[in-house]
Amino acid sequence: MAAVDPAGHALPIAVAGRGSAGRTGSWRVKRPVLRPEKCTGCYLCWIYCPEDVIDMREGAGPRGQAIPVIEYDYCKGCGVCAMACPTHALEMVDEEEFLQREG
Ligand code: SF4
Ligand code: SF4
Repeated sequence: MAAVDPAGHALPIAVAGRGSAGRTGSWRVKRPVLRPEKCTGCYLCWIYCPEDVIDMREGAGPRGQAIPVIEYDYCKGCGVCAMACPTHALEMVDEEEFLQREG
């Protein structure tokens, strides 16, 4: 599948279909959690997610910046988004701990 940036330019990367790993919410070990105050809205996580499960929500950040919204039913917890993030706004959190904490 071809990829394009927000301005419509073709990107030299291949993108898997959305949720190609299937529903991962039941077996994912880690989940990316966003700290919106650290996010600059740079779109790098959106570009690099191999499952295409990140949507950027324009204007939803605390400074009016775009922030990523992750479709957790299909996120496999690979951590690529967190590694790509230049400001460490995405933290990989242990899934069980997260569920107990938010629970
Ligand atoms: S951990 Fe990040 S890069 Fe990996 S599937 Fe989930 S949202 Fe995409
Ligand atoms: S890579 Fe990091 S700073 Fe850039 S949009 Fe994603 S979370 Fe925000």
